Amino acid sequence: MEKILIVDDSVVQAAQLRAILTDEYDVSVAQTAEDGLRRASSEDYSLILLDVVMPEMDGFTLLKKLQEEIVTQNIPVILITSLSDVTSEQRGLILGAVDYITKPFNPLIVKARVNTHIKLYNYRKQVEWQSMTDQMTGIANRRRYDGYSVEKWREATRLQAPFSICMFDIDHFKVYNDTFGHPAGDKVIAAVAKTASSYLKRGTDFLARYGGEEFVALIIGDPSQKVFEHIRKIRQAIEDLRIPHDPSTSEWVTISIGGITAVPPSESSYASFLKAADNMLYDAKKGGRNQVVWADEQLKQMREK
Ligand code: GH3
Ligand code: MG
Ligand code: MG
Repeated sequence: MEKILIVDDSVVQAAQLRAILTDEYDVSVAQTAEDGLRRASSEDYSLILLDVVMPEMDGFTLLKKLQEEIVTQNIPVILITSLSDVTSEQRGLILGAVDYITKPFNPLIVKARVNTHIKLYNYRKQVEWQSMTDQMTGIANRRRYDGYSVEKWREATRLQAPFSICMFDIDHFKVYNDTFGHPAGDKVIAAVAKTASSYLKRGTDFLARYGGEEFVALIIGDPSQKVFEHIRKIRQAIEDLRIPHDPSTSEWVTISIGGITAVPPSESSYASFLKAADNMLYDAKKGGRNQVVWADEQLKQMREK
């Protein structure tokens, strides 16, 4: 059931609204704007019905605060008030309310508007999710990676936490496509993504399709040796899939991996560390493929083979 939050100091009015919506939605009530803000930031609501006139913090002020916070700014807000004058309606809409219902309200209209805005909200979430997801593999796409990497690098700089960048590339994949065809190649890309993501399940782990047959993983908090050992398991797991390759190059499908673990020295240094990870990948290819090459915190190389 979708969750709706009613923020209203009037117990009677909140009860009326709840009665209208409770059949179809999981409805909670906050009696003050402060409590409303707290709940909206900590729970997952699909819509907020907000009374404008409340003692202490009023609805307009709460709306402004909701709009300023990243976690609450996308939740649609419908204002409810008896202020039927045009200026307050205008003020609410300018502040970012999606709609405006004036008291006394008609239950059918309240329900219809709520349904509409929840439908639009879900549609928007779905479109946003699709725009960040790689269709072929279901993992994050390059666009999601671009935003995420900058954000997490900045966070790790602030916390001075170890940050690992890991580049994967399928070995001899051009030959694979030439031998087995492009659709079969697509299946291999999906299988590699699925296997790799099964090893990157922690909340702070991240895996994206970087492009073509290349992937990038970000791991936060662990020292280089630990990450290196973990990443070796991924490489081995791909080999263990035993996907037949063209025997002229290799028996099975394999991947080469290059990476680096570092405590970020500055917010702007991400590109140079990504380049270093890419250099490690190049070394893994040059060293004979199907192997991991890693640079530790002192830029000392760890090699698998
Ligand atoms: P290396 O071991 O050095 O990485 O050799 P490689 O053949 O994998 O590298 P190269 O970069 O020369 O070729 C990458 C190939 O990946 C070429 C392209 O046909 C294939 N490829 C890229 N994206 C896709 C895709 O979405 N689907 C399929 N099936 N193949 C793709
Ligand atoms: Mg490549
Ligand atoms: Mg390749």
